[in-house]
Amino acid sequence: MPELPEVETVRRGLVPVMEGARFLRVEARRPDLRRPLPKDFIKRLEGRTVTGLGRRAKYLLADLSSGEVLMMHLGMSGSFRATQEEGEHRPGRFHHPRSDDRAHDHVVFHMSSGARIAFNDPRRFGLMLLVPRAELAEHPLMREVGPEPLGNEFSAALLAAKCRGKRTSLKAALSDQKVVAGLGNIYVCEALHRALLSPKRLASTIATRAGAPNERAERLVDAIKAVLGDAIKAGGSSLRDHRRTDGELGYFQHHFRVYDRAGERCVTPGCPGTVKRIVQGGRSTFFCPACQK
Ligand SMILES: [Zn+2]
Repeated sequence: MPELPEVETVRRGLVPVMEGARFLRVEARRPDLRRPLPKDFIKRLEGRTVTGLGRRAKYLLADLSSGEVLMMHLGMSGSFRATQEEGEHRPGRFHHPRSDDRAHDHVVFHMSSGARIAFNDPRRFGLMLLVPRAELAEHPLMREVGPEPLGNEFSAALLAAKCRGKRTSLKAALSDQKVVAGLGNIYVCEALHRALLSPKRLASTIATRAGAPNERAERLVDAIKAVLGDAIKAGGSSLRDHRRTDGELGYFQHHFRVYDRAGERCVTPGCPGTVKRIVQGGRSTFFCPACQK
């Protein structure tokens, strides 16, 4: 499942072809993705201009000149492919393989920028919704979403307040979109390793009883911001390299410190440990029992 850095990279890749551009023609090749496409989907898009392309958690948000917002979610297997005269690019190709099978191009936008943007989604867990801008914050998919980890408001104090008294593991707490938006299995594991905190530790232990942040909360927030920032930076460079590498980046795998590295030596300087895989809440967790306490 794509996580925040991937969605942010997709956003940055689509900005040049979508922002300020008009939908000239829209093809909806099937009536639904995870949910039915909105009523009059094509009519509500064609002729509208994208005034801004933003992101909240793992949702791409295209503000339209009509006052509506096109909310897009990649689901498990969704990707965008932008084709222009000078070539093709597929923003946000990270750890997860993406389908090249054109039979799964379910929605296609023909933009006034000259780009043809196809949304490809073999498993169809993706989502496209149209919501009035004024109602977005209260939309059921948005209203409970926690703080943006790269936003200024996300701090040790805020994270500690959210984890205060929580009897779940840190891994579970950070994977909870109400605690912090956009993190999934990969970046939770990576952030916990960078912060040298065990994924099994109780979430409540990053806060005092009164809910104030302790030193662990400070370390964890710094690690989350650093891990996401690095991933987005690498995603950006992968975008620039795209044409040369034909999209087959395979770049990120080599940059994970613990994710998918069970049995390998820990990369923490001076740590003699080995990365271990355990299962928490039905998902794999990768961590180093020697340095993550
Ligand atoms: Zn270690």
